Amino acid sequence: MKYVFVVGGVMSGVGKGVAAASIGAILQARGFKVTALKIDPYVNVDAGTMNPTEHGEVFVLDDGTECDQDLGNYERFIGVSLSGANYMTTGSVYQTVINKERQLYYDGKCVEVVPHIPLEVIDRINRAAKLAGAEIAIIEIGGTVGEYQNILFLEAVRMLKLKNPKDVVLALVSYLPFLSKDSELKTKPTQYAVRTLNAGGVQPDIIIARASVPVDQKRREKISFNCNIAEEDVISAPDVESIYDIPVNFEKDNISGRLLKKFGLRPRTKDLKKFRKLGAKTRLAEKTVKVGIVGKYFGSGGFVLADSYISVIEAVKHSAYSLGAKPIIEWIDAESLGDLKKYDGIIVPGGFGSRGVEGKIKAIKYCREQKVPFFGLCYGMQLALIEISRHKLGFKDANTTEVNKGTKHPVIDILPEQKANLAKKDMGGTMRLGAYPAVLQKNTIAYGAYKRNGISERHRHRYEVNPEYISELQKAGVVFSGESPDGRLMEIMELPKKSHPFFLATQFHPELKSNPFSPHPLFTEFIRASLNNNGK
Ligand code: GLN
Repeated sequence: MKYVFVVGGVMSGVGKGVAAASIGAILQARGFKVTALKIDPYVNVDAGTMNPTEHGEVFVLDDGTECDQDLGNYERFIGVSLSGANYMTTGSVYQTVINKERQLYYDGKCVEVVPHIPLEVIDRINRAAKLAGAEIAIIEIGGTVGEYQNILFLEAVRMLKLKNPKDVVLALVSYLPFLSKDSELKTKPTQYAVRTLNAGGVQPDIIIARASVPVDQKRREKISFNCNIAEEDVISAPDVESIYDIPVNFEKDNISGRLLKKFGLRPRTKDLKKFRKLGAKTRLAEKTVKVGIVGKYFGSGGFVLADSYISVIEAVKHSAYSLGAKPIIEWIDAESLGDLKKYDGIIVPGGFGSRGVEGKIKAIKYCREQKVPFFGLCYGMQLALIEISRHKLGFKDANTTEVNKGTKHPVIDILPEQKANLAKKDMGGTMRLGAYPAVLQKNTIAYGAYKRNGISERHRHRYEVNPEYISELQKAGVVFSGESPDGRLMEIMELPKKSHPFFLATQFHPELKSNPFSPHPLFTEFIRASLNNNGK
């Protein structure tokens, strides 16, 4: 087993996850079986209870694990389906160690933060790699070097490297500030980051130098000299237009050659052809398509964060590029809406609670009446059905019981198996989560997109279409084109093509399974309809 640890220096948000995913994709392209793990320093047991504006989108795996959005990057870049074994948090590691202690697993020993916590971390990495049959595991350590929170994970790197010096590589993704045009890239913060790592007993083997511009020779020499690494081990990582260009960019500095050399491995054949092709496609796209996303998880102080909907954004890109179009994605604040006319298509993504709900319903009504392509994801489907109930069936107070418990028309209601969880306030990891099958109805938009009968998609919700309203909704023109195999749960709703060019919504999250090399068929149909609406 070989291990590539990826840690961040200087500051967060410089693309450590995408760097880890790219390293995975590159080593995979060199013919190795890889897997990728994320370690989150939070005490939260998983990402499920975190607000997206705190932590970004909550990604969901097939097995129902609610995890960090970086696992989405790994899946999209490496093209694998990961499991809960690929994700850990401080909270989950401690939980396991404490449970083991209670079961006398440690044989009466004093259980200590070191070595027992790092040993559990190493165990988990090995287990995940074995499960995936991987030869190389990429492990991203969340947070930034110098933070108190991730020290025990760096200690795991130290312990593993001590025993297996030839099998462990530590890559530092560090940021080089560039203050103005007359200035130069600054390496000092990176030097501090390396010294901090050194104080923890580890030394990076590779430094990925993130900056707005490429690293020049002078800075390469400086980093090499001051940070104690070979010049060849400085990988230039300038800003790029598309994240899918990053693997090709890293390879310009021969990152795979450097990594494999350290491991004493020879590259097997294969190369990054599919990423090159994808890059060309994104650059050649001539048309544009303007997609509005109605959401509420943007605000962080005075800033707008798109991270909360990262998989939706990526899925839009995958489908747009596959149709030869450049996507222009804009945020529509659910609380203020603004001018909706400028969009070729509108997405109402997932969400929770009552804030922004009325605005989203207004946006859906606009799409339905003005025949603007509409794509609803999870809450987006629930709200579309509420909109239709209110304005076509005349149930003025129609709502979900998530927002109004006392509504006379609970078109969306709690899943029966969820009632006990809510009553007990048992909120962590208890939603309807992960992959569930659905069957599609022939001659529908959904069937035309998937071109097959049975599908499997990822879920994350507590509420569902109330079975008592299904026939009324059908009378109002709604087609439930996807259902759970037992017919109990409505999975996809749509309006027939003859009444609307594209009005479709899903109870599941199709965005979680889109990939640049195989865009999600429903997103592709939505973008196709939006392109047709372009300029109308
Ligand atoms: N809040 C809704 C529910 O729990 C929708 C969830 C979502 O959009 N992910 O059912």
